[in-house]
Amino acid sequence: MTDAERRTALEAIAAEVRVCTKCRLHATRTRSVPGEGDPDTEVVFVGEGPGFNEDRVGRPFIGRAGDLLVKLLGSIGWHREDVFITNVVKCRPPENRDPQPDEIAACAPFLRRQLAVLDPAVVVTLGRFSMGTFLPGAKISQAHGTVRPVDPATGARAALVFAMYHPAAALRSPAIERESYADIAAVPAALIDARRRREDVVEPVPRLGSIEPAALDTAMPPPTADDPAPQLTLF
Ligand code: URA
Ligand code: SF4
Repeated sequence: MTDAERRTALEAIAAEVRVCTKCRLHATRTRSVPGEGDPDTEVVFVGEGPGFNEDRVGRPFIGRAGDLLVKLLGSIGWHREDVFITNVVKCRPPENRDPQPDEIAACAPFLRRQLAVLDPAVVVTLGRFSMGTFLPGAKISQAHGTVRPVDPATGARAALVFAMYHPAAALRSPAIERESYADIAAVPAALIDARRRREDVVEPVPRLGSIEPAALDTAMPPPTADDPAPQLTLF
């Protein structure tokens, strides 16, 4: 799929999300929030659902949690425009309550179709509900900062899933905020691993968003406390 075809396919999904009435969340939303980002990215971040600000504007992660997400991305030299950011449910649960299982199930086809179009190398889950979609049964206190292969039934045909705490949890707890910075520092190395794995399992597809091939020749060790994560640009 070319960049232009991806963009068109994502816009078609977003147009359906904007008018969707498949679950009760449509009745209380102001705007649905399909997601946004680089259609040619290798990395997709999946949050839980829109909050107050996102519901008013129709864009994901634009409130305080979004500001922290941007800072976390900045700590590895990435910008929000470099990745794709979306949520498990595309409409705000009233009073920011947890999304319910039937709401998550009703909305899942949109995420699945977005992942099929984006064909990411890495899916980063933010919080329990997003993790539950990709790693059913996992506990976030154990799974955060770790990678697993993604079940292709999620739409991502050859990806690794990397679990993180939700930025809103990091805003409530300095310890979780510290762990979130440590976790995201490992995402560039996960991307390198995911690319290698894709070379084995699928035909490599050249991407506009790929880093310079020369950078791939250097094996990158996982980051340690003294040795911060490799700065890996997405474009
Ligand atoms: N929290 C989320 O999970 N998603 C958003 O888009 C904003 C806040
Ligand atoms: Fe449709 Fe998803 Fe919004 Fe429910 S949350 S109305 S399924 S877009």
